[in-house]
Amino acid sequence: PSTELVRAVDRIMRTADGSRRMAVRANSDTEEDSARARRFGAQGIGLCRTEHMFLGDRRALVEALILADTDEERDRQLAELLPLQREDFAGIFDAMDGLPVTIRLLDPPLHEFLPDITELSVRVAVAEARGEAREGDLRLLQAVHKLHEQNPMLGLRGVRLGLVIPGLFEMQSRAILEAAAAHQRKGGVPRVEIMVPLVGAVQELEAIKEDIIAVARDVRSETGVHLEFLVGTMIELPRAALTAGQIAESAEFFSFGTNDLTQTTWGFSRDDVEAAFFSHYLEKGIFGVSPFESLDREGVGELVRIGAERGRAVRPGLKLGVCGEHGGDPDSVHFFNEVGLDYVSCSPFRVPVARLEAGRANGQSDSDSR
Ligand code: PEP
Ligand code: MG
Repeated sequence: PSTELVRAVDRIMRTADGSRRMAVRANSDTEEDSARARRFGAQGIGLCRTEHMFLGDRRALVEALILADTDEERDRQLAELLPLQREDFAGIFDAMDGLPVTIRLLDPPLHEFLPDITELSVRVAVAEARGEAREGDLRLLQAVHKLHEQNPMLGLRGVRLGLVIPGLFEMQSRAILEAAAAHQRKGGVPRVEIMVPLVGAVQELEAIKEDIIAVARDVRSETGVHLEFLVGTMIELPRAALTAGQIAESAEFFSFGTNDLTQTTWGFSRDDVEAAFFSHYLEKGIFGVSPFESLDREGVGELVRIGAERGRAVRPGLKLGVCGEHGGDPDSVHFFNEVGLDYVSCSPFRVPVARLEAGRANGQSDSDSR
């Protein structure tokens, strides 16, 4: 941003910071975005979506990992990914030195990383008709078929993928912890938070956390660096909000994912907000604004409130944030402050406005209990 813009942001933030309690972080997956977010006043990264690191040229690496048929092939793919991820995280730790960085383990809807099943079927059928079908193509089609889902957003995503592909979350955790250890050895201050996506039951988190802790033990003995880090979870399924008391036994922080929580609470597909019925609902006034844009306080908001209360009842110091789109929506920011969240996280460009709103909200509710 221009110097003038930076000064303007600074001015806004000074006003906003008067009586601030709730922090504003940014959602960012690259070193460049993280540096930009920091210039805009972000007080940390609230969500680094690691699946975004594999779009474009690197997509094929994840595809090969998902489709690996032997343990050896899978381990080879993981070994190839490890140094790439280490470098990704090193850049973000450099950009955010001293500020908290929440890195979320892989959460791709599977179809984004697999060949399109229709195209593949047509290609194989044409090849077969010409008598040119290759064994490899047939095997690929079978593998893709086996993984094909009617509802990928409700399918093999997030923690489920981590549980199904041995070594995947360990590889990512190792890359995070090795990058952080190197950063600390250079004199930096990495503040690492490893986040597990789409948890619906504490048992899922416990299994992954155990693996992360084992990796951390290895990294510590290999590097000699003692790192502090937190392991936490997204709360983005109604079941997670309702069982937040159990989940808080294992989670050191919660981040509410209001995008998926809106989808799963209403049963509306977040990918089809242009659906015909949706505009009909808006016209009929069933809701005034899309619940994906402005937080539905009675449903989704109530689940956030319940999750926060039940989580803190078990672990009083539980760190709470939100990283869905609503984290940057001014009206929703006031609600999150009221519920007692420690931070909201939004896209870098929305940080200045969110900080202004967080400052205002804190000013208005200083007497609220948390
Ligand atoms: C969410 O669901 O609110 C969230 C932040 O995760 P994602 O949008 O990546 O699913
Ligand atoms: Mg989500």
